[in-house]
This record gives sequence, C-alpha cells and structure tokens, in this order.
Amino acid sequence: METLILSGEKAIKLGAELIKAGEVVAFPTETVYGLGGNALDSACIAKIYQAKGRPADNPLIVHIAKVEDIYPLVSEFSERNKRVVEKLMPGPITVLFPKSDIVPDSVTAGLKTVGIRMPKMAIARKFIEACGVPIAAPSANASTRVSPTTASHVYEDMKGRIPLIIDGGDSDVGIESTVVDLTGEIPTILRPGAITAEMLAEVVGSVRTHKGEVISSAPAPGMKYKHYAPTVPMVVASDMKALIEEYDRQVALDKKPLCLIRGQAIDILGDRKFINLGDSDYEVCRNIYKSMRDAEKVCDYIICIYLEGSEICKSVMNRVLKASGGKIV
Ligand code: AMP
Ligand code: MG
Repeated sequence: METLILSGEKAIKLGAELIKAGEVVAFPTETVYGLGGNALDSACIAKIYQAKGRPADNPLIVHIAKVEDIYPLVSEFSERNKRVVEKLMPGPITVLFPKSDIVPDSVTAGLKTVGIRMPKMAIARKFIEACGVPIAAPSANASTRVSPTTASHVYEDMKGRIPLIIDGGDSDVGIESTVVDLTGEIPTILRPGAITAEMLAEVVGSVRTHKGEVISSAPAPGMKYKHYAPTVPMVVASDMKALIEEYDRQVALDKKPLCLIRGQAIDILGDRKFINLGDSDYEVCRNIYKSMRDAEKVCDYIICIYLEGSEICKSVMNRVLKASGGKIV
C-alpha cells in the first residue's frame, strides 16, 4: 500500500473519505500524532491494532470534536465531570467515563470505561468533525517505538501500512495526554502529562496523583508495557558528573554515546556529542521524543540527564524513565 503524506484542506477531505470507507488514517494532535479509525466500527479497530502491532489488551482513546459528542459514548455524566470537561477540554487530557453500549469492547480492551479526548489543535478537530464519527486512536508509532511528533516520524513506522498521514507540522506539547479516571469519588491520574495534578485539583478539589517512577504492576492497562523505547540502549544520568563519567566509560568500550541535556549545561561537555532539549520545561517536553528519534540514528547509546523542574518536567521524566527501563547511573 502506498502511504501519502498530505496537508491542508485536501488532506482533511481525503482523510474523512478514507475513514468513512473503514480505513485507518494518521493525524496530528497537539500531544503526539494519532492513528485514527471509526471508533464505532470493530473491523476498523482491528486494523488499528494490526497496523501498530499493539497488544489487544491495551485500550484506545476515543477522540471527539465537540463536547456534545461525549453524550452518546458514556452511560453517566456527573456535574463534577461536566466541570472537568468544560474547564480542561479541548486540551492534552483524556478522561475515563463509564462507557455506553455503542462503544465496541475492542476499543476499550473489554473494560467498562472509555477514554475520551478532545484535541486542541484545530486541524485535528476539523478532521474529526469531517469524519462525522468519533475517532479511536492510539499514538501513531509502531508498538514499543517512541511516539511520533511529526509526520515523518509516523512515516518511519507506518510506511506501507496505512493509506494517509495528515501533516500538521510539529506537535506542540510533545508527550501523550494526561489520563484521568473520573469514575471514582476522587479523580485519579493514571498517566501524567501536560495537564498537571495541580491544574486538575483546581477544578475538582482533590486528585490522586500518579508518581513519576516506573510502574511494574499496572493500575491501568498499557502501563505494564515498556513504551517509548528508542532502538538503542538509553540510561538516565543523575547529574552532569555522572553523565560525563558514563559517556567516557562508553567511549572506552568503543561505543558512540550521545547525551540529551538542557541548554544550561552545554559548556562543560567539551567535544562530547549532545542534543540540547531546550531551556524551558515546555521546550524540553516538546523536544523529548523528537530528540530520542534523532539520537538513535546517529549514536548507539543515549544518556539523558535527569530533568528537574515543574510538574510538566516530571511528566517528561516519566517517559524518559520508561524509555530507559528505569536505569539510572
Ligand atoms: P496511546 O494512545 O498509545 O497513548 O495509548 C492510550 C493509553 O490510554 C493506554 O495505554 C491506556 O493506558 C490509556 N487508556 C485508554 N483508555 C483507557 C481505559 N478505558 N482505561 C484505562 N486506561 C485507558
Ligand atoms: Mg502510545
């Protein structure tokens, strides 16, 4: 199958036609690119899992264009949950509701809850609107690969497997949405992201947080899988001294290492190879996956500095620790 990359109105038009014909289309969002299909069509859901090579017990998020689109998908919509939707959507957040009968079990991997997200990126909402159905979409990477934040990342993983990639430029946020379970008394963050616990607590009072460490027994399906891994080994260095020592140790072992660091730390690296993730926490978040993909093409060992900063930075660290299998030097 030929995989087209198109942008603008013609991409949206063709994308919507393909979705209506039961096909799978990759599209941009502000978090990462998604691999979308008709959420109400089980045959299409099967195609998504197949294109990604995703395990069938890892549920998909259902993407919508406007608040009203939520009603048919859920069996319960409390006042508190309406407030969350009104205050934080559209944006980089996925909320879990009790699902209605029209949502196929294959979308939710047999769970009684459905994850719903309304992207902020205009082209994503235009595309979903043009499709006229809710769009189930995981990230548009091959399973276990780093999530894509550009159309060319998607092409690397999905070439020949899907008919179309809608190109909307770089994803602005750069990591996956915050996932929040709204079915219990206290909302619980299952996956941290750019919408932080503090932002949620402002809306709902109290929130159970998910800490940044690597999780082995999974509170949510999907968390037990090693996600976001580059194709070369990656470790986290606890500080610049550890980073430089590890770099030199790898060189002595005939490796070609590369460091992922923050702007402030460049001077002391000498002629060691590095990618600068940026200065602000937002830049680091936007650049992290792109930098992992760039790094794996030019080195055989990645050393990422431990990133300290705001809650968003902690969400980035959550992904970095997964990518490195939790290995800290
Ligand atoms: P991805 O879109 O590739 O980031 O994957 C979506 C992730 O959202 C999954 O790995 C789950 O962790 C989470 N998710 C989606 N729907 C549900 C659900 N109904 N219950 C729990 N977690 C969910
Ligand atoms: Mg994913």
